[in-house]
Amino acid sequence: MMMQLSGPISKMHTHINMGIAQYQLPIGDQLLSINDLIGEQISLSFNQLIHCQHCGKKTNKSYSQGHCYPCSIKLASCDLCIMKPETCHHHLGTCRQPEWGLDNCFAPHVIYLANSSGVKVGITRKQNTPHRWIDQGAVSALPILQVGTRLKSGEVEVALKQFVNDKTNWRKMLKNEVDLVDLLPIRDELLEKIQPIINSTNAQILDNPALKIAYPVIEYPSKINALNFDKTPIISGVLKGIKAQYLIFDCGVLNIRKFSAYNITLTY
Ligand SMILES: [Zn+2]
Repeated sequence: MMMQLSGPISKMHTHINMGIAQYQLPIGDQLLSINDLIGEQISLSFNQLIHCQHCGKKTNKSYSQGHCYPCSIKLASCDLCIMKPETCHHHLGTCRQPEWGLDNCFAPHVIYLANSSGVKVGITRKQNTPHRWIDQGAVSALPILQVGTRLKSGEVEVALKQFVNDKTNWRKMLKNEVDLVDLLPIRDELLEKIQPIINSTNAQILDNPALKIAYPVIEYPSKINALNFDKTPIISGVLKGIKAQYLIFDCGVLNIRKFSAYNITLTY
């Protein structure tokens, strides 16, 4: 029997069960446990409708992963300082939404090491772990420091970036070309190198074990073909797996996050 779901999609919800990442795809008011569809033929069809996920207005193009243009320039969550936390400008009185900033940026942030396509450093709000690591397709992650604000986490990250990458090579990540490394000795080495910034930001050293994350993938692609609803409105194929925020099909990979707010009909 064919099943069909329709509505706007957004970033998949994640959790870990028995060490394996579990994904739920929001579509309309439904939450589809999409791990269950791995190995099945499914089709996603773009209904040529995008509604801003903040204000709900129709927009012809998606800005900042699912927003209309006015919201993308008005919301603090769409500001550049979210990508570059060391540029937080709340103290200058120029935050787009100072109240939002107080709630979201003046909260505990964690600096972590993760292995997604190699060792990288990243930051996230404390409450966003381990979702952030799953979103990046990390096979292991280790929180190393905690600070009180987003700005401080950015300062620590900048210091660490002298010694370790902060980007994921998403093609390597999706092909599963990842060397397994022990993050603990790397942490110890890095903490020694950035001692002054640990002191100046009042960072707390965390002593957690590394978290290992496995992904529900039956076959990794050898070549990466990025699928795009703007060019290919109907995407149909066998779902081979899910990693980071990507659905891996036999015909290519689809970054669900990039198409947040797109109105889709999913058939399986
Ligand atoms: Zn809007």
